[in-house]
Amino acid sequence: MTPTGAALALEQAHRQGVGAAVAGLSDAGLGPLRLTGAAVPVLAEAAVSSATPFLRAPLLARISRALLLHPVSGSEDGGCPTCGVSAPCTTASALSA
Ligand SMILES: [Zn+2]
Repeated sequence: MTPTGAALALEQAHRQGVGAAVAGLSDAGLGPLRLTGAAVPVLAEAAVSSATPFLRAPLLARISRALLLHPVSGSEDGGCPTCGVSAPCTTASALSA
């Protein structure tokens, strides 16, 4: 299966999140609590993987509600019931890209 644009963006965001978590866990500002060593990337990956569904949920819920208003396949007449244009409207196209 070829990854979609959204899947690629999510994958990149995950990698960037893990990178940020590595930097945060090993930040010198943590003083004696600072983590170092080979376990840091593993811990960062686990932390980001655990947190991601909770961070995504509010956004995905809003996207889902917007797609109900702007269905990609349109209503029975093939148009967007909210915009009144042929489906997919620009909103549906942007949300499903
Ligand atoms: Zn629309």
